[in-house]
Amino acid sequence: MDYDVIIIGGGVTGCCIARTLSRYDLKICLLEKEADIASGTTKGNSGVVHAGYAADRKYKKREFCIRGNKLFDQAHKELNFPFKRTGTLVVALEERQIKDLVYIRNYGTEDGVPGLEIIIDKNRIKQMEPQLTDKVIAVLHAPSGGIISPYEFTFALAENANMNGVEFFREHEIIGINKIVAGFEVETKLKKFTSRIVINAAGLYSAEISRMAGVDTFEIYPRRGEYILFDKSSIHLNKVLFPMPTRLSKGILVSPTIHGHVFIGPNADNILDIEDVSTTTRGLKEIISGGLKLVPNLPLNAAIRNFAGLRAVSNTMDFIIEATEMVGFVNVAGILSPGLTAIFAIAEEVVRILVEDLGEELKGKENYNPYRPKPEHLSDFTKMKLNQKIKENPAWGRIICRCETIPEAEIVDSIRRPVGATTIDGVKFRCRAGMGRCQGGFCMPRVMEILSRELNIPYDEVTKRGKGSHYLVNKVLCIELTEDSKESEEVAEK
Ligand SMILES: Cc1cc2nc3c(=O)[nH]c(=O)nc-3n(C[C@H](O)[C@H](O)[C@H](O)COP(=O)(O)OP(=O)(O)OC[C@H]3O[C@@H](n4cnc5c(N)ncnc54)[C@H](O)[C@@H]3O)c2cc1C
Repeated sequence: MDYDVIIIGGGVTGCCIARTLSRYDLKICLLEKEADIASGTTKGNSGVVHAGYAADRKYKKREFCIRGNKLFDQAHKELNFPFKRTGTLVVALEERQIKDLVYIRNYGTEDGVPGLEIIIDKNRIKQMEPQLTDKVIAVLHAPSGGIISPYEFTFALAENANMNGVEFFREHEIIGINKIVAGFEVETKLKKFTSRIVINAAGLYSAEISRMAGVDTFEIYPRRGEYILFDKSSIHLNKVLFPMPTRLSKGILVSPTIHGHVFIGPNADNILDIEDVSTTTRGLKEIISGGLKLVPNLPLNAAIRNFAGLRAVSNTMDFIIEATEMVGFVNVAGILSPGLTAIFAIAEEVVRILVEDLGEELKGKENYNPYRPKPEHLSDFTKMKLNQKIKENPAWGRIICRCETIPEAEIVDSIRRPVGATTIDGVKFRCRAGMGRCQGGFCMPRVMEILSRELNIPYDEVTKRGKGSHYLVNKVLCIELTEDSKESEEVAEK
């Protein structure tokens, strides 16, 4: 066997399981089909660490969310990812909704959600969140709710897992899984791997992966959520604002991001195409209308980006975390919201399954190091420290992304880190170059130059997010055109 454990999928689920298992004496690898980890649902979501009062008790996602929320403080100390307990507000706009707030508060308090409080004093509410509509009647305050950068969080998990021995293989799409005597043979488009245990954390594709292993027990349906992000100079918010929840979703929220922007979204649109992350006029109108009910001063003319994410909804409407009839094959699927919040509890459950259901005797690794150093950011430096850094390394003084003030040194670091960036998006999501008002219009060619230099690849081979996403396609087409074939002219036209 090449490995003790193969994890399929490099979203937050796969990376958190990898990091959690890396404390044990196991040989582990993670296989991801895209050019980077955190490229699926983990990239496009609200980034809220939920307090845990929302889901019904019949779903395990409720218990996992409440437990997961509590595990964030320790993980934050160890992994140094951007996270803040801002508190969240559920906003009642009608008198009759107060009884629903009371129900949610009591139900949550009984299950251990700390500090839930209903506030009806408008002055106090306005002090907490001045942007909230004057029509507010009452709010449910959940102080343990918070915000996080979901992809930076996932990179931190992956880096720490890698520091502790987990091997990462990106651009390795699994195309087949065969049961062999002592475990499984997992076939990717590039290579075959063998392992005693396989953990399926493939998000939207987890039902397909499960079927490859001969386990056909659930379905996954995509449910799209659309967002609009506003320029950070246009509005500031203290708290995450939720409307009253419905049976289907927590509703369209207005929320700060951990980096000081504000966004509105998501809606909940059941779609057929598992890859369709486009935004729609109808969807954007829906979230604008929802957002304006909570914050009438939304700066709609300062929107800098629309995006969408896909929830992986299982037919059970709940997380599926279980050992299967195919001994050694574990499904961690249907990780819809609040999956990000629940993630450490989910990883704990996987450890329990390995020990209790699969009979693994997990031995702690002697040199396990739970700490991941915080990446250095110019924005955290004093003027004196910055001057000293520039003296040591002039790349700290060369600002590449003007909107977010990101110097060359941070971009180089995002490429050189464990499981580092290999694409333009990889740099953007690690160090925020291209995340600001101009959305990369100015800095992208320079980021490409740095990627080309650091990865030692030609400039025109640098991609946005892996295969098929080249920026310099015309150059390639020109070369093809010199062959003067009709076919290449057609390609050029396209
Ligand atoms: C609109 C929206 C809002 C949300 N808001 C919140 C929130 O505020 N708070 C919260 O707690 N949760 C939230 N969630 C839920 C959270 O985003 C998910 O629970 C979490 O991201 C799921 O991560 P994952 O790793 O399971 O899936 P993914 O991130 O999709 O990872 C699965 C990975 O598997 C890879 N893969 C698939 N097929 C293969 C293959 N054949 N071979 C190799 N690799 C493969 C994919 O490329 C992908 O990288 C939200 C979700 C959505 C969509």
